[in-house]
Amino acid sequence: MHDVVIIGSGCAGLTAAIYAARANLKPLVIDGYEPGGQLGLTTMVENYPGFPDGILGPELIENMRKQAEKFGAEFKAGAVTDVDLSRRPFRITAGKETYETKTLIVAAGASARLLNLENERKLIGRGLSTCATCDGSFFRGKEIAVVGGGDSAMEEATFLTRYASRVHLIHRRREFRATKIMLERARSNEKIVFITPAVVEDVLDASKGVVEALKLRNPETNEIGILPVEGVFIAIGHDPNTKIFRGKLEMDPNGYLISRNGTKTNVPGVFIAGDVQDHRYRQAVTAAGSGCMAAMDAEKFLEEHKS
Ligand code: NAP
Repeated sequence: MHDVVIIGSGCAGLTAAIYAARANLKPLVIDGYEPGGQLGLTTMVENYPGFPDGILGPELIENMRKQAEKFGAEFKAGAVTDVDLSRRPFRITAGKETYETKTLIVAAGASARLLNLENERKLIGRGLSTCATCDGSFFRGKEIAVVGGGDSAMEEATFLTRYASRVHLIHRRREFRATKIMLERARSNEKIVFITPAVVEDVLDASKGVVEALKLRNPETNEIGILPVEGVFIAIGHDPNTKIFRGKLEMDPNGYLISRNGTKTNVPGVFIAGDVQDHRYRQAVTAAGSGCMAAMDAEKFLEEHKS
């Protein structure tokens, strides 16, 4: 029987683990499909406080993990496949293993949608990014592209004009999903060039390990073109990793978990942190902050339910 089980080992889960471990709760962290979360997929992080020269995402995550282990957190590889939250202790199943726990912290994150191109993953952090706030400043004076037709794409393209000399907005349809105001803001920005309809067929050049160009196809004419760019931001949305909580924890129509009064949920004893409940800020530091809050809320809950 565990006092605290934490689902997810990104910034939120690891911060929760550090706090819970320091409170002597010996948390069990179940890594998830993407150990380290989205930071594990990035290169230099320049906006995490305390690192004036920046720090590599995987290194930051590794440090947090060591820090949690130092205070007694235990880690299990694998992903949670089922949860029974109908009564306490909760039952958490990860493959063949089942764990019982008095409290649960869900920090399973959200995954940025990718285009599912063969070379895409190879170029993440090497010119291909899913976070403009995180990586925009690496593209000062450069020509780049943003892929997507929703509010995220408009917001990222507009934001990126602070740095880039030109931003090509690539969308697969002529119509946009973005709200009118966001679309108009992007359209009126003279640094943004709209290319529609265009489907990204490939990101070049994985053999060199850097982004040099996009291979684009016009879906109406099937014409192929090459667009030279030094960076590409994929802004086609995020999917919160919440499938296993459907019908068990309150979520919004997009699948993000809903918190009430701090990190509490509709199930007493279940707390949430990080991108699994945040489609707005999505930053390492905000995820870490909510991980700390969830651990403190879990600790308080255990204290109040000692008997
Ligand atoms: P979204 O609204 O789902 O839009 C995703 C866009 O990516 C769509 O245009 C979609 O194209 C395109 N797309 C999806 N899969 C693709 C693929 N495989 N290849 C090429 N294109 C693909 O996602 P979002 O923009 O992240 O927004 C999510 C929610 O957050 C929305 O409710 C939005 O309003 C909100 N949001 C608000 C703000 C703000 O108000 N400041 C900022 C960001 C997001 P199709 O249109 O062809 O399907």
